[in-house]
Amino acid sequence: MDAIRLDHVSFTYEDLRRAKGAPARPALTDVSLAVPHGQFLCVIGHSGGGKSTLLRLISGLSHPTSGRVIVNGAPVTEPGLDRAIVFQDYSLFPWMRARANVAFGIEQADRVLKRGQSKQEMARTAERYLELVGMADAKDKYPYQLSGGMQQRVAIARALAMDTQIVLFDEPFGALDVKTRRALQALVATLWADSQNGKTAVFVTHDISEAILLADRVVFVADGRITADFMVDLPRPRTQELLTENARARQIAERLTALFYESEPVPGAGEGVPAEAPAERVQQGEGASRLWLES
Ligand code: ADP
Ligand code: MG
Repeated sequence: MDAIRLDHVSFTYEDLRRAKGAPARPALTDVSLAVPHGQFLCVIGHSGGGKSTLLRLISGLSHPTSGRVIVNGAPVTEPGLDRAIVFQDYSLFPWMRARANVAFGIEQADRVLKRGQSKQEMARTAERYLELVGMADAKDKYPYQLSGGMQQRVAIARALAMDTQIVLFDEPFGALDVKTRRALQALVATLWADSQNGKTAVFVTHDISEAILLADRVVFVADGRITADFMVDLPRPRTQELLTENARARQIAERLTALFYESEPVPGAGEGVPAEAPAERVQQGEGASRLWLES
C-alpha cells in the first residue's frame, strides 16, 4: 500500500470560482501521484505552480474539488496526526519555550493516537529531539529569542518528535541564509538516513540543489500539473561536492534547470508575489545548477 495516493485530483480555490466574470483557473488539474512508504519525494517548480496547494490537500487543510487524496489507504478528510507539517515560517507558539513547543506536538500525538506516554517520557523525548537538531542549549528560550534558523530547527524537532509516518515540508528553508540552509539540509538528510522505520517525506522546494541533495524522487509541478517525475538515483550520503563532481548529479541538475525554462511561470500567479524569471530562479539553486549553466 502506498503512503500517499492522489487520484485525478483537481483543485480550484473557492474565492476564484466565485469571482465575477473571471474564469476559474484551477490551482491543480488532474494530478495523480503515488508515494510509496519510506520515499523522500521532492516537489519542485515555479512560484504559483501549485506546490503548496498539493501539500495542503495531502495535509487535509484543503479538499479536492474533484478526485481523491488517500493516505495509508483511507481518504483524507481533515488534518491528522499521522502527517506532521513544517512550514516556511516556522509557526512555533510564541508563548511557549522551545521545549514546550516540541512537547506540545508530542502530547497532541500521544493523546490522539492513544500512545499512553507519561509526561516525563514526553519531556525526555522533547529534549532528545532538541538535542538531535542541535538546540539542547536553547530549550528554555522563547521563539522571539531565537534566530530564524534556530526556530526552524525547533519546528523540525517538533514535527519529527511527533514520530508520524509522514512528514510534509513546505519550503522549510526558503527564508534562511545559505549557511543555515545547508546545515539544515544536511540535518534532514541525516535524520532520514538514521530513521529505521522509513518515514515518508513530501518536501516542497524551488531549489534545485536542495532537491538533488534530499530526494529519492522528484516531481516537477508547473501550472497545476505534474510535468516530470523521475528518480534521483544517486548514492548517499550526498554532499555539496557530489552536486558538482558527480556526472549523474549534474545531469539531473541540468534536467531540472531545463524544466524551469520549458515551463513558464503563470503571469500573476503566486498571490502578489511576482513570478520570477527563469534566470533568477535558477540562480537560487546554488552550486550544481549555476555551475552547470556557466560551463
Ligand atoms: P506554489 O506553492 O507552487 O507557489 P500555490 O499552490 O501556492 O503555488 O498556488 C497555486 C495557485 O493558486 C496560484 O495561482 C495561486 O495564486 C493560487 N492560490 C494559492 N493560494 C490561494 C488562496 N488562498 N486563494 C486563492 N488562490 C490561491
Ligand atoms: Mg508555495
